Amino acid sequence: FNNELQRSEKMEIISELAASVAHEVRNPLQVTRGFLQLLVEKKTTSNQLYLNLALDELDRAATIITDFLTFAKPEVGKVTTLNVLEEFIHIEGILMPLVNLQGGKITVHIPSDLYIKGSSSKFKQAFINIIKNSIEALEGEGEIEIWAHGENGKVFIYVKDDGEGMEPEVLERLGEPYFSNKTKGTGLGLMVTFRIIEIMKGEISFTSTKGVGTEVRICFPAIKV
Ligand code: ADP
Ligand code: MG
Repeated sequence: FNNELQRSEKMEIISELAASVAHEVRNPLQVTRGFLQLLVEKKTTSNQLYLNLALDELDRAATIITDFLTFAKPEVGKVTTLNVLEEFIHIEGILMPLVNLQGGKITVHIPSDLYIKGSSSKFKQAFINIIKNSIEALEGEGEIEIWAHGENGKVFIYVKDDGEGMEPEVLERLGEPYFSNKTKGTGLGLMVTFRIIEIMKGEISFTSTKGVGTEVRICFPAIKV
């Protein structure tokens, strides 16, 4: 019964979200269409600018759809035993270009003997969302520290940044669909992350001080290999 209830609640959330995703995606598509129309009619001399804006808007639509699909179909992804360090080596590789572009610094200290159960791609997606928020919070310079340890049958992972930090009102609303304080944000990143961590039987908590930085603590059941 409990499961049924959860299922119907989830279906309700999904159809609500589907309606708002359709609405959210229509905006960037309409903007893009407008720019292309201007270029076709040659009513503008700022071709490069409009083409770049159109690309940005298309990327935005794609991000919204990707984030949403993860929420609607969280069970996809093959579950295997994951080595936490190996996953983070990949994650670091994916995020390095972004970090270099923004001018921040990432350090990773993870022992090689930590194992958990889950889907590698979902795990990466969850942490990329968390770390991307840290990168975006750095505002140019600053440091992100990632470390992990095993204790009492659990794996603890920490992501800490010395970025802009959050007010308590913001902390309270993390994970709420479409809650974003960014001009180009989707407000879907943490919603998806929370969902993935929940499915992996993990827990996530945030500690943050405005103007000082943020520390995210995630824990998962450990696997003995
Ligand atoms: P988005 O990044 O698209 O805005 P998220 O769900 O990833 O959506 O994050 C929601 C909001 O939470 C962000 O807009 C930001 O205000 C806040 N936030 C999340 N992580 C951090 C962080 N590390 N530092 C400061 N603010 C953060
Ligand atoms: Mg985000």
